[in-house]
Amino acid sequence: MKVLQGLEPQNVFDFFEQICAIPHTSRHEKALSDFCVAFAKERALEHMQDEMGNVIIVKEATPGYEDAEPLMIQGHLDMVGDKTDECDLDLEKDGLRLRVDGDFISAEGTTLGGDDGIAIAYALAILDAQDIPHPRIEAVMTVSEEIGLLGATAIDLSICRGKRLLNIDSEVEGVLTVGCAGGRRAYCRIPVRRVKMQGIDVQLRLEGLLGGHSGTEIDKGRVNACVELGRFLALLREKTEYGLAELSGGVKDNVIPKSAGARIVLGQKAIDVLKATAAEFERQMYSEYGTADPDLRLVVDEHGPCELAVLDEDSLGLALDALNLMPNGVQSMSADLPGLVETSLNMGTAMLEEGELRLNESIRSSVTSAKEQMARKVQMLIRRLGGTVEFSGDYPAWPYAKDSKLREICVELFEKQYGRKPEVTVIHAGLECGILSDKIKDLDCISLGPDLLDIHTPQERMPIASVARTWEYLKAILAYK
Ligand SMILES: [Zn+2]
Repeated sequence: MKVLQGLEPQNVFDFFEQICAIPHTSRHEKALSDFCVAFAKERALEHMQDEMGNVIIVKEATPGYEDAEPLMIQGHLDMVGDKTDECDLDLEKDGLRLRVDGDFISAEGTTLGGDDGIAIAYALAILDAQDIPHPRIEAVMTVSEEIGLLGATAIDLSICRGKRLLNIDSEVEGVLTVGCAGGRRAYCRIPVRRVKMQGIDVQLRLEGLLGGHSGTEIDKGRVNACVELGRFLALLREKTEYGLAELSGGVKDNVIPKSAGARIVLGQKAIDVLKATAAEFERQMYSEYGTADPDLRLVVDEHGPCELAVLDEDSLGLALDALNLMPNGVQSMSADLPGLVETSLNMGTAMLEEGELRLNESIRSSVTSAKEQMARKVQMLIRRLGGTVEFSGDYPAWPYAKDSKLREICVELFEKQYGRKPEVTVIHAGLECGILSDKIKDLDCISLGPDLLDIHTPQERMPIASVARTWEYLKAILAYK
């Protein structure tokens, strides 16, 4: 029994339901990729599938549109697979349990994968239709977007003739995205030496923070736990001697760390100084971050006498310099697009190993040269501290185009259908459009999509009415000439 039976547009929801029945989390998109290929074969549509599972399906223009410029429609095949603790599904093997809840579609206990299954459903519905006028369509379906834009990076677009691309991977109806930041990861390592130290064993923990996405939430003024714990350690060093045995914070380079901890050794007499300094530090943090991160706290836990291998004086100095001097957070705002973060840096993780301090940084900028300058600064600083940097995961920015015919069309048609202006925006995060526009010279590109709520979580919901309105909007864009 079909769960989405009777919902309009029926064909779109039919394909969406078929997609949801096939497991397709990142790196496990093969079955869905094969499904799309079988779809193309049944309809005798030109197509290609590469080793990774990326698929491109071509459909020639309908009568009257032979001279219209081809249009690429793009979305990603993979979804983030997350589920509740009670859910018994294996998202690498099982399909989703769809449900309709009032005006929304969701999946029981799991992510829905409306991001980006709805794009694939729209594309298949367009390729399948006999009654939708359109130019030559080139449907580009990529794999492993959610784990670093891997499919888009590897895909060969040589069968495409399009110079216009509609990316359907935005989560707010009425927002047209027309540019995004590029990025790069920096893995920094600074060698350290250790000595034995006796004293009182103390655990420090900076916690209660909000964290967030290092692109879209970098401008919220939130505390970076690694950076600010480094600041506390520097402050403490001004007041008393201590030894640093352990330090760790953060989970991923593209997430603002929500907590960080350290283990220090200090003399019994210094405990009062430590407590007073911690209280002083908390007051400073509240006055600087109290609004953006109201629940922040520094927890001090005393554990009694110990002997631990701690950083020697020089190494402690290097570690504190690295934590405190590394640029972090918003570095510059765009002068062209008010409110847009242009360049930023996030210390995603900090980890003190036996013989080295490791820092993982995520650098972003919508201006390539600014991203390079940021990388250069990181490199220079770490070299000064006797360490090395390895860069990886570089992806290009999708620069805002001052002139864009596709954007003009999308804005005009939006106003006509909705009776209001769309929001046209550039985001400080990565999208596949950046990589694809790097592959096709002068690609005219825009990103849009229906509303999707709480994506990447088991609470993900997709409003039926928004899918329907976006379908009408897409058809109008296809028919425009
Ligand atoms: Zn997506």
